[in-house]
This record gives sequence, structure tokens and C-alpha cells, in this order.
Amino acid sequence: MVSIRPSQAAARWIAGRGKHNLQCPITVLYTTRGIVTSTTTPHNISQLQESSVPSNSVAERRSLQERKDAIKQAKPFSEFLTDSFNREHDYLRISITERCNLRCLYCMPEEGIPLSPPPTQLTTPEIFYLSSLFVSQGVTKIRLTGGEPTVRRDILPLMHSIGSLRSKGLKELALTTNGISLYRKLDSMVEAGLTGVNLSLDTLDPFQFQIMTRRKGFDAVMKSIDRVLEMKKLGANVKLKINCVVMRGLNERELIPFVELGREQDLEVRFIEYMPFGGNKWSQKKMISFQEMVDIIRTKYPGLARIPGHKNDTSKTYQVPGFVGKVGFITSMTNDFCGTCNRLRITSDGNLKVCLHGNTEVSLRDLLREDNNGQPIDEEAFERIQKIETDRRDGLLPDETIIGWGPREQQLLEVIGAAVKRKQEKHAGMGELENMQNRPMILIGG
Ligand code: SAM
Ligand code: SF4
Repeated sequence: MVSIRPSQAAARWIAGRGKHNLQCPITVLYTTRGIVTSTTTPHNISQLQESSVPSNSVAERRSLQERKDAIKQAKPFSEFLTDSFNREHDYLRISITERCNLRCLYCMPEEGIPLSPPPTQLTTPEIFYLSSLFVSQGVTKIRLTGGEPTVRRDILPLMHSIGSLRSKGLKELALTTNGISLYRKLDSMVEAGLTGVNLSLDTLDPFQFQIMTRRKGFDAVMKSIDRVLEMKKLGANVKLKINCVVMRGLNERELIPFVELGREQDLEVRFIEYMPFGGNKWSQKKMISFQEMVDIIRTKYPGLARIPGHKNDTSKTYQVPGFVGKVGFITSMTNDFCGTCNRLRITSDGNLKVCLHGNTEVSLRDLLREDNNGQPIDEEAFERIQKIETDRRDGLLPDETIIGWGPREQQLLEVIGAAVKRKQEKHAGMGELENMQNRPMILIGG
């Protein structure tokens, strides 16, 4: 069972809540429909928290919320992020690394993957710039994933800078992680504005863990789960979901113990149908369907019942009567949820992918780097390009100077818009997916 242990770090977090004076390290030009309108100044992170907006009464808060809702409704959603089936994409998942400290059977090919040369990977200013561009167009949720996102050295400054986009409309900053080193970084992530953790754990048995991930680390993952639950108890507003890929002959006997984690704990366990990706030796025989999982759980908990979810949920949510936690099923293989898809993905090498199961991609990185002779944009280069844009707005540059974010931003939005418009109504079916060329999951970012 997951246990709750109080920790000094959590107490420190509570004591310091709202007192931090973190400066957003990067300034960026924000746009409205592709037109540069303003620059940010460094922010005190705590000032950006919705909850810290000074307000004297419930009535005042309500009226502020009503005004915000009215403004939102009056503003049409970005045409660039709306596809031909009228799906509005307000959720961006960014893979921030292709590295990982585990080797899960269903994700990483047995022989590993050759790592790409570092200059092919997006830099922190590039990730921040793209995040702000998407937020300017109406993205309200960003999830960082990988590979394993916590192995990226500068994940904390990156999260703090993305967290500063709350003042521009970002509402949720989430992370998908294997939990191996999450507990060490969680406090700072919560300070940065982390609102959700999807933690992958396929077994509650330390030996089976080693089989499924080809590495040790079970205790560290449990420590991370404990820490998230502990912080929630202390008031942190972080949703916890546990992702469990179910494979026949490996972990289907653990369905019920996983459901029982939610007896007293406020968490959602999501069982994922095993999906085919490049090099993962998928076969239909190894996949356990959603319906079969429900049937297995009902042998012990016949009252397991569907409960309402949210409009864009990827999972079907269930609950056992009397349990605090919930159970979700991600049914990409037997019951797709394409109709309400609101997700876009950026791979760690800067390609936009409009569908997890589609193999069409378009490079945003190459276009972004055209202003930097094709080279990665580090913070120095980022500031140089920004200066050009500021000078342009101040009328200090001749009109024909095309370098700078303004024109480039328009090009990026057009490329993004065209890719979104090409998004298919649905992804291919099981038979086709099995034989389709796609990147290994570790190179997509789940
Ligand atoms: N390393 C992080 C983790 O494991 O949570 C983030 C990246 S991982 C690729 C994202 C999610 O994809 C994980 O929840 C993982 O279980 C899921 N995943 C990977 N390969 C999968 C597969 N073949 N079928 C279903 N889910 C898969
Ligand atoms: Fe690494 Fe996550 Fe893939 Fe496992 S699922 S190998 S932890 S990226």
C-alpha cells in the first residue's frame, strides 16, 4: 500500500508558499493572432497564481470569473489550432527529452534507441518560445513528457518559465513521469505551478517492476507517489493519476490490487491498452482490451460503475462504490476517442505531430532556427533575436529586415495551421496501426 509520511520538505513548501520571488528568466514577445503586441517583464511567480489575485469577497471573485468567462466566449478560438472537423486544440504535449532511465518493455525497443545528436534537440528558450506561441493562440494546458522528462537537467528552470505563462492564459502545467526521480524535484515543480502528475507504474511488485522496466527503481517510484499524496494532503493542488499499461501474462493479475490503491487515496489509476509503436513487438494476443479489464475487476467489485468525465477526457472513468479514488481506462485500441481530441504534440527534436498514431510530422525547429543560421537558439541568441524585434517595433530597422520573431511567428503559425488542418478525423484501426511505420513511443512522448 502507498503510505503517507510527513516530510520536512513538504513542511518547508507549505511555509514558503506564496513567498517565493522567482524571476521568469526569459522575456518573450507575445502575439495575438500572430501579431506581436507586447513583451513580458519578469514576474513574481506567486503574483501569477489565480488564487493570489487580491479579492475581498466571494461576490467579487465571482464577478471577476464571470468577466473572464465573458471575454473568453467573445474571443473566437484560434483558426490555426482548429482543424477541419472543428476540433479546437487547446492542449499541447511537449517531449523535452528522448532519454530515459528505464527501458519499459512496451515502449523502448530491446536494443535501445540511438540518441540523436544534442543540437537536434530543442533548447530551453526554444521550448519556452513555442509554449508561449501556442498559449497566445489559446492553449490552456501544457504537459511535459519524454523520454523521461525529469532527466532533463534544466527541467526546473524550464517549468518555472512555462509556469509564468499562467498570466497569458495557461491554466494547467502537467508532467508525465516514471517517478524515479520525481520526489527530488517535486517541491520546486509545485512552486513552478505544476497542476498534474501522470505517473507510470505497471506493477506493485518490485521484482515484476524489474522485469517490466528492465531496471531497478520500484522504491524510488513509491517514494514519489507518497510525496505527491503528502503534498496534496498539505494543500497542493496537484492531480495524481497512475498510468498502468496492462499486458497479458505480465501484469493483468494486478488489476485488482491497483484498483484497491484508491480505496482510501485520492488518486486515479488509469489502465492503458497496450499499443503498437516502432520496435515494441506488439501483438494483439498480448493486449488486454478495456472490456476484458472491466470484467476482471467486476469479479471482485461488481459495483464498479462508469462516472461522468470531462469533454476531452482520453479515459473512461469508473469508480468502486465507497472508494475515494477512481479508475480510468485508456482505450485507444478498441474504442478510439478521436472525436473529442484536443491534443497536439511537439517531439524533442521540434516536430509537430497532430496525432499520436499518425506518422506525419512537420518541423517547427528548422523554421525557428532560420533566424539563427540553422543553429540551436540558446539564451544569448534568443535575446539577440528579441532585440531585433524590439528595434523593429521602435522603427529602428529598415522595413526589409526580415529577421526577428514577428514575420517568423506568422510563418510558424501558418505551418502549424496547415498541419492542424490536415489532421485526420480518426486514427487508423488496430490492424493498420500494427503495420504502420511510426516512431518508437520513447521518441514521440506519450
Ligand atoms: N517516461 C515517462 C513515463 O513513463 O511516464 C513519460 C513518457 S512515456 C512514453 C508516456 C506514457 O506512455 C507512459 O504512461 C507509458 O506507460 C505510455 N506508453 C508507452 N508505450 C506504450 C505502449 N506501447 N502502449 C501504451 N502506453 C504506452
Ligand atoms: Fe522510459 Fe516512460 Fe518509455 Fe518507460 S514508458 S521506457 S519510463 S519513456
